[in-house]
Amino acid sequence: MQTGKINVQTENIFPIIKKFLYSDHEIFLRELISNAVDATQKLRMLASRDQFKGELGDLTIEVEADREKKTLVIRDRGIGMTAEEVERYINQIAFSSAEEFLAKFKGKSESDAAAIIGHFGLGFYSSFMVAERVEIFTKTYKKGAGTKAVHWSCDGSPDYQLEECDKTSRGTEIVLHIAEDSLEFLEEERILGLLRKYCKFLPVPIRFGEEKKYEKVEGEKDEQGNDKYEYSTRPRIINQTDPAWKKKPADLNDEDYRDFYRELYPMSFEDPLFHIHLNVDYPFNLTGILYFPKVKKNMEVQRDKIQLYANQVFVTDQVEGIVPDFLTLLHGVLDSPDIPLNVSRSYLQSDASVKKISNHIMKKVADKLEDIFRNDREQFEKKWDDIRVFIVYGMLAEEKFYERAEKFALVKNVDGKFFTLEEYALHIRGQQEDKDKKVVWLYASDPKAQHAFISKARERGYDILLMDGPLDNHFINLLEQKLENARFARVDADTPDKLIPREEEVPARLSPEEQERLRPWIEEVVEKERFHVVFENLSEEEFPMLITRPEFMRRMREMSAIGGMSFYGDLPETFNLVVNSNHPLVAGLIKQEDEAVRSGLIRQLRDLALLSQHLLEGEALTAFIQRSVELAGAGQVPEGKE
Ligand code: ADP
Repeated sequence: MQTGKINVQTENIFPIIKKFLYSDHEIFLRELISNAVDATQKLRMLASRDQFKGELGDLTIEVEADREKKTLVIRDRGIGMTAEEVERYINQIAFSSAEEFLAKFKGKSESDAAAIIGHFGLGFYSSFMVAERVEIFTKTYKKGAGTKAVHWSCDGSPDYQLEECDKTSRGTEIVLHIAEDSLEFLEEERILGLLRKYCKFLPVPIRFGEEKKYEKVEGEKDEQGNDKYEYSTRPRIINQTDPAWKKKPADLNDEDYRDFYRELYPMSFEDPLFHIHLNVDYPFNLTGILYFPKVKKNMEVQRDKIQLYANQVFVTDQVEGIVPDFLTLLHGVLDSPDIPLNVSRSYLQSDASVKKISNHIMKKVADKLEDIFRNDREQFEKKWDDIRVFIVYGMLAEEKFYERAEKFALVKNVDGKFFTLEEYALHIRGQQEDKDKKVVWLYASDPKAQHAFISKARERGYDILLMDGPLDNHFINLLEQKLENARFARVDADTPDKLIPREEEVPARLSPEEQERLRPWIEEVVEKERFHVVFENLSEEEFPMLITRPEFMRRMREMSAIGGMSFYGDLPETFNLVVNSNHPLVAGLIKQEDEAVRSGLIRQLRDLALLSQHLLEGEALTAFIQRSVELAGAGQVPEGKE
């Protein structure tokens, strides 16, 4: 037997590793199983190159927990190690990286340290986070001198033992003697949970325990002559070794992609809208399948669903910094050995290969969307309502994405017709221009609430967009910057004539002097701080009075409600009470000598304007109803019409 001292300065390295890694103990299992998978893959590769001529046999990796003995065993049938290799790979290399790690991270926070550990190849030594003693039994695939099986043992001090042993089968068996404070890692459910989390798609079968299945017994019948069913036990294989993202897109159909989605998210009831299969090997290696889910109102719930793998080993589902923020709304799998997975987030964000990958993903997503748009516009329009939040978010967040998406981003008008931005600009050009010759993109954010305004605008032949998405205020701001010569105005932002002046002047029915005579009577019955009374010479068909909400202030207020800019949010909302000085009813007010009748009429017109903006409520609403009933009783109501 050979004993030795691992050459480290630190007296006892393991308590420190343990402390540093405290938050993430469970990864030891991922590390050990990845090592077993690597060893198995290496053997497969040697066999494929004829450098290994023996029987590969069953390569299943086995995980076994023994609660009595308090051991957890990971056994593979991979390449194994010679005594010399154990000396080199386990004693020397791993320890020197452990030292380097400690030197680098002295004084750093635990989470920083834990994040960087994999970077230093501390994989195997992470087992000391949960074990008080670790043994390796290993026999190399090689033949000849110096290839006898060896047994290595270490209790967490720098002392280790290495001796020959009588293991006869090829491969490596790691035996962890689980420490008292880590006995949870002997619980079947805990281990199963970890295996399903980290190992679900590893390329070598992994067995843990057995599973029972109630199955038909072939060729046998029960007493009644029916098919016979029995429980049978069989090895429980945790993983699916050939996941969809590793296959060629040509070998998969839509159903396969949907099945894989369900496999990733068993709790999801909705199918994704479409998928993107990524497959790059130059200048970096990246595979994966991304899915577009239906984006819900609450976007946060849907974030962080992308799973990140390195060679099929699950690493994390926190992809922040690796994919552009807006793409974290996507679901699916990314697999890349080129992403430095175990390093801290700030490092990731500045890493050049991560940037390239992120740009590549964004480009692929844009390609896919553009592809559907060009080849199947009908489908694209059908799905638009579900993907628009995502696209709008992307356009707001990433200049590069905007440049791509401006070609296929759609707007929908209140009649449900879709246009690209360019198509829409052409559609309304020459029809809807303000006094500065800017094209006015009229929109509604709530067609029901803004119905009166929409119908008046339509009577004039204008087109109105539907902008009712959660990000649309921001989007409108962006479009105003990006589109040439365009201005957005909600249908109730001003009177139609102010928004889009008409060629011909409407003759005024009230002179300026008459207007000034009318003004105090109206101001008397409105809240001065909130309503600004203005006279406008609208056409006779417009309502006698209407309430408008100036675009800029309203938009600022609404955005501050989401974005927390308190300045605009704290201001009281103000409105314009527009009096149509060309309406016969308004003109009639001047001639009305009975003060009570006049003020009753003014109140009635004011309330109608308030009503059409949903501003009439409580006592004021009751008074209005009362007054209306009296008016009806006086026989003043025109013929019934819906
Ligand atoms: P890494 O896997 O990052 O190289 P580890 O500390 O996990 O670092 O392992 C160190 C080395 O020990 C591996 O590179 C490999 O050569 C060897 N090794 C570990 N586990 C096994 C195993 N199950 N079979 C064969 N060799 C192994």
